[in-house]
Amino acid sequence: MFYIGCHLSCAKGYLPMAKDAEKIGATTFQFFTRNPRGGNARALDENDIAAFLKKKEELGIGTLVAHAPYTLNACSADEAVRDFAWRTMRDDLQRLEHTPGNLYNFHPGSHVKQGTETGIRLISEMLNGILTPELSTTVLLETMAGKGSEVGGRFEELREILDRVELSEKMGVCLDTCHVWDGGYDIVKDLDGVLSEFDRVVGLHRLKAVHLNDSLNVCGAKKDRHAKIGEGQIGLEALVRVINHPALKHLPFCLETPNELDGYAREIELLKSRRV
Ligand code: FE
Ligand code: FE
Ligand code: ZN
Repeated sequence: MFYIGCHLSCAKGYLPMAKDAEKIGATTFQFFTRNPRGGNARALDENDIAAFLKKKEELGIGTLVAHAPYTLNACSADEAVRDFAWRTMRDDLQRLEHTPGNLYNFHPGSHVKQGTETGIRLISEMLNGILTPELSTTVLLETMAGKGSEVGGRFEELREILDRVELSEKMGVCLDTCHVWDGGYDIVKDLDGVLSEFDRVVGLHRLKAVHLNDSLNVCGAKKDRHAKIGEGQIGLEALVRVINHPALKHLPFCLETPNELDGYAREIELLKSRRV
């Protein structure tokens, strides 16, 4: 099975996302747990969730990826921002238990002049403060482009966070192709090399999802500007090697390319046609 989908709007609830997924031929998808710029989440509607779970089953939709808001920064220098991060993640994880067994991806954070070491400590403290053995969701650290003071631009930083989390079995990693490329990992010339580096540092068993994006910038640019599939510096052929790689092909692939639904439908169709 090829689990390919894209980022969908959750503004109207769960069932409308499943309908959008059906419309564009997606077999998985990602959604924000709340407004990506922060704020409160919409109230959960039990009927909507029940209808969604039924539809998801019918369509054979695989594991879903919920994405935390961008404003969640566990390693901010500002205590109020860190407090927002804790409250938001705790609330998101509780809500996600209504759709159990999926993935929750978040940006590790930006340490804003406090240093990577402090950043890593604050991020793992939050995870240790929030994760409980009962959770059915796997929490994913996203690989970052290393823009500004972002933590998670190097595989070593992700490994250090994972090492400090007590309930380590609740944790995984989501690999974003635009981010790793911008971070200096050359997935065009040497995908095998990058994946064996990932395996050596983090462990491929930790990899639970892929964000499939092209990049506007060159390898190592640390910019994080996504491009449509085949319209960036990574290019279609390299991304086709990603979706077909034996170490990755079982994972859910989510497009976060600058598209509306019709554009996503075309990219999904294109990638399906290149899946071997
Ligand atoms: Fe992200
Ligand atoms: Fe991403
Ligand atoms: Zn990005």
